Amino acid sequence: MKKNVFSLNSTIAVLALFVLLIAVHGQAEKVKFIPPNEEARIKAIGSTEKLSEELKKAFEPGKNFKPIRRPRPDDWLAEHKERGETYDQYMRSMPNVPGLPRIYIYLLPLGRFGNEKEFLANLKEFTSLYFCMEVKLLPVLDVKELKVRSRTNAYTKKRQLNCNNILVKLKERLPADAYCLLGITMSDLYREPDWNYVFGWALYKKRVGVFSFARFDPTFWGKQWEKDYEKILLSRSCRMLSHEIGHMFGMQHCIYYRCNMNGVNSLEENDRSPAYLCPVCLRKLHYVLHFDVIDRYKNLYFFYRKTGLLREASWFKKRLTTLPEDEKALSSVAGTEEHKVLNKTNKHDALRSSGDLLEVVSIEPSSPAVLDLGQKLHVKVRYYLDTAEPVKIWARPYTHDSITRGYGAHGSPGYRKEIRESDIIDCWFRFNSPKEVDEVSVKMCDGKTGNEIIVLSCKINARWVRQKSE
Ligand SMILES: [Zn+2]
Ligand SMILES: [Zn+2]
Repeated sequence: MKKNVFSLNSTIAVLALFVLLIAVHGQAEKVKFIPPNEEARIKAIGSTEKLSEELKKAFEPGKNFKPIRRPRPDDWLAEHKERGETYDQYMRSMPNVPGLPRIYIYLLPLGRFGNEKEFLANLKEFTSLYFCMEVKLLPVLDVKELKVRSRTNAYTKKRQLNCNNILVKLKERLPADAYCLLGITMSDLYREPDWNYVFGWALYKKRVGVFSFARFDPTFWGKQWEKDYEKILLSRSCRMLSHEIGHMFGMQHCIYYRCNMNGVNSLEENDRSPAYLCPVCLRKLHYVLHFDVIDRYKNLYFFYRKTGLLREASWFKKRLTTLPEDEKALSSVAGTEEHKVLNKTNKHDALRSSGDLLEVVSIEPSSPAVLDLGQKLHVKVRYYLDTAEPVKIWARPYTHDSITRGYGAHGSPGYRKEIRESDIIDCWFRFNSPKEVDEVSVKMCDGKTGNEIIVLSCKINARWVRQKSE
């Protein structure tokens, strides 16, 4: 049975902005999608002639944005006809704009999440940085209190909540100052009796939406949680939440570049989709929200880096290096605060893509430290590579700006991109004679040429001393 949400004749369907994914147990019709050519893509961005130099640069596609690709057989664009929406068409559509009194995005957790305090705090922070708006997180509401219709899904045998019904209940709870209210839940959702499930649904005009993260959880599919499960869940949830809220700002699916506003048909396609907006969609969001593009990029970069979403952070870092405030942007994106890392040099960035990342996770024992002779000082680092070329990563001791002689240290294999993002490298060094070290330098070097790619410097205070014999 063919399903097309736009043909449903209920009023809700007319108002509904079709969100993300509807998986149905019928054969979807195959659609032939031809990616727009460069001329069409540039035209979709619209004329930037009258904009400031900074904005012109921000909406220039350059090398950071890739054209949309031909869809794979089960991708969104292979099954859904999308006409696309240029910046000019968006402006003419008179999108909703936040304004007094409706100035907050509200998130309402429906039911429990694993480790919810941290997860929800991250979602809240992310949403506010992405949309440059204040976000209010409401206390967790027991789904039972909402008294919504539910059923057991015939395929998964799991409980599902009816999303239409949830939206009706959310409307009753819409705060007077809410630009929009989003229910978020780990319960699976469905919409119509003959639909398998939906990831989410939002009523564009009525400012309410509900999104489920249930299918982002491997245990939903009977699989084990992987060790970096929380990061995967956060990465998927951020991408989905921003996509859905993007619809609530009137943005339609993007067909021009690889973009957070591309329609996605499955979890697998969601995982492939980017976390950032293309120039067309960025310009749309900027039209309603008037943010500082570089500040927004910087904030998101910090967020991704802090939460260990290095794939996302890598793109934002790369993008920042191409924008006018390059120097300022990069000097403030260097390293972790805890270790007062100084980004001494990025001089060989030109040799490689500048999306490579290196960060110091911890230094143990922490400063000030007194170590026995032969005891190791561990510098735990994490990295993300933007290209397939291997790198070497070293931590070395310094005293008064010179390398401290006589150390023994870890060796470095050639680290490659394939390594899991969550893998932490233990770089260590030690001394067999008394020494004092006031700085650790962690270097990422090109595996072939030995050229420095990133150098981080951490101030420490560590002394190796001979133990007094009894
Ligand atoms: Zn969508
Ligand atoms: Zn886009």
